[in-house]
Amino acid sequence: MAKQFSSKRMQREARTVEVMIRRYCRDKHGSGQGELCDQCQELLDYAYLRLTHCPFQDGKTTCGKCPVHCYKPGMRQEIQEVMRYVGPKMVLTNPLMALSHALDGLRRKPVKRRSSAA
Ligand code: SF4
Ligand SMILES: [Zn+2]
Repeated sequence: MAKQFSSKRMQREARTVEVMIRRYCRDKHGSGQGELCDQCQELLDYAYLRLTHCPFQDGKTTCGKCPVHCYKPGMRQEIQEVMRYVGPKMVLTNPLMALSHALDGLRRKPVKRRSSAA
Protein backbone atom coordinates (compact mmCIF):
# COMPACT_ATOMS: atom_id res chain seq x y z
CA MET A 1 0.00 0.00 0.00
CA ALA A 2 1.42 3.34 -1.04
CA LYS A 3 -0.15 5.43 1.67
CA GLN A 4 0.13 5.53 5.44
CA PHE A 5 -2.97 6.00 7.55
CA SER A 6 -3.52 7.30 11.05
CA SER A 7 -4.04 3.94 12.79
CA LYS A 8 -4.12 0.18 12.30
CA ARG A 9 -7.87 0.34 11.93
CA MET A 10 -7.60 2.87 9.11
CA GLN A 11 -4.80 0.90 7.48
CA ARG A 12 -7.03 -2.14 7.59
CA GLU A 13 -9.84 -0.16 5.98
CA ALA A 14 -7.48 0.99 3.24
CA ARG A 15 -6.16 -2.53 2.70
CA THR A 16 -9.71 -3.91 2.49
CA VAL A 17 -10.82 -1.42 -0.13
CA GLU A 18 -7.61 -2.03 -2.08
CA VAL A 19 -8.12 -5.81 -2.10
CA MET A 20 -11.72 -5.37 -3.22
CA ILE A 21 -10.92 -2.96 -6.04
CA ARG A 22 -8.05 -5.18 -7.23
CA ARG A 23 -10.29 -8.22 -7.33
CA TYR A 24 -12.99 -6.29 -9.16
CA CYS A 25 -10.51 -4.97 -11.71
CA ARG A 26 -9.07 -8.42 -12.32
CA ASP A 27 -12.49 -10.00 -12.88
CA LYS A 28 -14.29 -7.20 -14.68
CA HIS A 29 -11.53 -5.40 -16.55
CA GLY A 30 -9.08 -8.23 -17.14
CA SER A 31 -6.19 -6.63 -15.24
CA GLY A 32 -3.20 -8.80 -14.39
CA GLN A 33 -1.99 -9.60 -10.87
CA GLY A 34 -0.79 -6.41 -9.17
CA GLU A 35 -2.19 -4.19 -11.93
CA LEU A 36 -5.10 -1.76 -12.02
CA CYS A 37 -6.78 -0.13 -14.99
CA ASP A 38 -6.90 3.68 -14.99
CA GLN A 39 -10.52 3.76 -13.83
CA CYS A 40 -9.88 1.49 -10.85
CA GLN A 41 -6.65 3.26 -9.96
CA GLU A 42 -8.61 6.51 -9.86
CA LEU A 43 -11.24 4.89 -7.65
CA LEU A 44 -8.60 3.51 -5.28
CA ASP A 45 -6.81 6.87 -5.05
CA TYR A 46 -10.16 8.51 -4.34
CA ALA A 47 -11.05 5.94 -1.67
CA TYR A 48 -7.67 6.56 0.04
CA LEU A 49 -8.33 10.30 -0.07
CA ARG A 50 -11.75 9.90 1.52
CA LEU A 51 -10.30 7.70 4.27
CA THR A 52 -7.55 10.24 4.93
CA HIS A 53 -10.12 12.98 5.38
CA CYS A 54 -12.77 10.87 7.12
CA PRO A 55 -14.00 12.85 10.14
CA PHE A 56 -14.61 9.67 12.13
CA GLN A 57 -11.27 7.86 11.68
CA ASP A 58 -11.14 5.03 14.28
CA GLY A 59 -14.70 5.88 15.26
CA LYS A 60 -16.06 5.13 11.80
CA THR A 61 -18.51 2.46 10.80
CA THR A 62 -18.07 0.93 7.34
CA CYS A 63 -18.45 3.44 4.52
CA GLY A 64 -21.48 1.52 3.25
CA LYS A 65 -23.31 2.21 6.52
CA CYS A 66 -22.05 5.76 7.01
CA PRO A 67 -24.82 8.36 7.30
CA VAL A 68 -22.54 11.03 5.77
CA HIS A 69 -21.18 9.09 2.82
CA CYS A 70 -18.64 11.60 1.64
CA TYR A 71 -18.09 10.08 -1.83
CA LYS A 72 -19.17 12.19 -4.81
CA PRO A 73 -22.05 10.57 -6.76
CA GLY A 74 -20.09 8.92 -9.62
CA MET A 75 -17.47 7.47 -7.28
CA ARG A 76 -20.15 6.38 -4.85
CA GLN A 77 -21.83 4.40 -7.61
CA GLU A 78 -18.52 2.81 -8.59
CA ILE A 79 -17.53 1.77 -5.07
CA GLN A 80 -21.00 0.40 -4.40
CA GLU A 81 -20.72 -1.74 -7.54
CA VAL A 82 -17.30 -3.03 -6.34
CA MET A 83 -18.71 -3.86 -2.87
CA ARG A 84 -21.76 -5.57 -4.33
CA TYR A 85 -19.65 -7.75 -6.61
CA VAL A 86 -16.65 -8.52 -4.39
CA GLY A 87 -18.29 -8.49 -0.94
CA PRO A 88 -19.86 -11.97 -1.08
CA LYS A 89 -16.67 -13.48 -2.59
CA MET A 90 -14.54 -12.12 0.26
CA VAL A 91 -16.05 -14.62 2.67
CA LEU A 92 -14.27 -17.38 0.76
CA THR A 93 -11.13 -15.61 -0.49
CA ASN A 94 -10.35 -13.33 2.50
CA PRO A 95 -12.44 -14.64 5.41
CA LEU A 96 -10.60 -12.75 8.18
CA MET A 97 -10.81 -9.49 6.29
CA ALA A 98 -14.50 -10.11 5.59
CA LEU A 99 -15.12 -10.86 9.27
CA SER A 100 -13.32 -7.72 10.42
CA HIS A 101 -15.32 -5.67 7.94
CA ALA A 102 -18.56 -7.23 9.15
CA LEU A 103 -17.64 -6.46 12.77
CA ASP A 104 -16.76 -2.88 11.88
CA GLY A 105 -20.18 -2.61 10.28
CA LEU A 106 -21.88 -3.51 13.55
CA ARG A 107 -21.02 -0.01 14.70
CA ARG A 108 -23.90 1.69 12.96
CA LYS A 109 -23.39 5.13 14.43
CA PRO A 110 -19.99 6.66 13.72
CA VAL A 111 -18.25 8.67 16.43
CA LYS A 112 -16.58 11.88 15.35
CA ARG A 113 -12.92 11.80 16.37
CA ARG A 114 -11.50 14.86 14.62
CA SER A 115 -12.55 17.53 12.14
CA SER A 116 -12.07 16.80 8.46
CA ALA A 117 -9.63 18.80 6.32
CA ALA A 118 -11.63 18.34 3.10
S1 SF4 B 1 -17.19 9.99 6.07
FE1 SF4 B 1 -18.26 8.03 5.94
S2 SF4 B 1 -18.14 7.45 3.77
FE2 SF4 B 1 -16.58 9.03 4.11
S3 SF4 B 1 -14.71 7.86 4.57
FE3 SF4 B 1 -15.69 8.35 6.53
S4 SF4 B 1 -16.97 6.54 7.01
FE4 SF4 B 1 -16.42 6.44 4.81
ZN1 LIG C 1 -10.35 -1.80 -13.48
